[in-house]
Amino acid sequence: MSEVRIEALNQIAAEVRTCTLCDLHKTRTRAVPGAGNYHTEIMFIGEGPGFNEDKQGLPFVGRSGDFLEKMFKLIGLSRDQVFITNVVKCRPPDNRDPLPFEIDTCKPYLDQQINLIDPLMVVTLGRFSMARYFPGGKITQIHGQAKLENGRAYYPLFHPAAILRNPAQQPLMEADFQRIPEILAQVRALRSQGAPPPPSAGDDAPPQYTPPKTSPEDVAVSKPEDAPNSDTPPTQLTLF
Ligand code: SF4
Repeated sequence: MSEVRIEALNQIAAEVRTCTLCDLHKTRTRAVPGAGNYHTEIMFIGEGPGFNEDKQGLPFVGRSGDFLEKMFKLIGLSRDQVFITNVVKCRPPDNRDPLPFEIDTCKPYLDQQINLIDPLMVVTLGRFSMARYFPGGKITQIHGQAKLENGRAYYPLFHPAAILRNPAQQPLMEADFQRIPEILAQVRALRSQGAPPPPSAGDDAPPQYTPPKTSPEDVAVSKPEDAPNSDTPPTQLTLF
């Protein structure tokens, strides 16, 4: 990754930490831009910071973070080998669901992080990040089913907090996690065979910044399941 891209990612994190574009900034302790390895092949995207994340300014700490690290270990990964972030970077009060306006307002930050890191695989954790790539999908039906778009795999998984609430589903989560290396290997092979990278990836210049919209009236309100896809609508191919 070029220095230009690293600098752009650091700049996004700095903007997030001082962002006041939606009301979530009023109740946050610390914004949570994301953390991990900018050079990673895998990004994990959750919903939004919780109590502990808000206090520490880091994603997936506390019980959900411990559980996620346990899943990483199953496949020989560690937290410092991946990049972890959320669809909204500030904690919704009382851990409520993020609102459509909040997701839309925060979206340019996540779009840019994905474009700059250009991971081979985006793993979504829970329904709000899933809705970016699987509009209308139900997590209970499509978890563990990867799809390939423009040389990148998108892979919907349950949110760790959902598994902690319902431990009976942990074997499903473990099985889904254990398929990650296989999917990653197939995307690597496809890219090495010349599969085109996603739009705006592979360019040393950072993508153009699209200023977030600044009022609810400016943003078409949609249900989370109808959240717009962040990337150019691609030809979709179901993997595996
Ligand atoms: S747009 Fe994102 S970073 Fe800005 S205040 Fe809202 S949640 Fe926080």
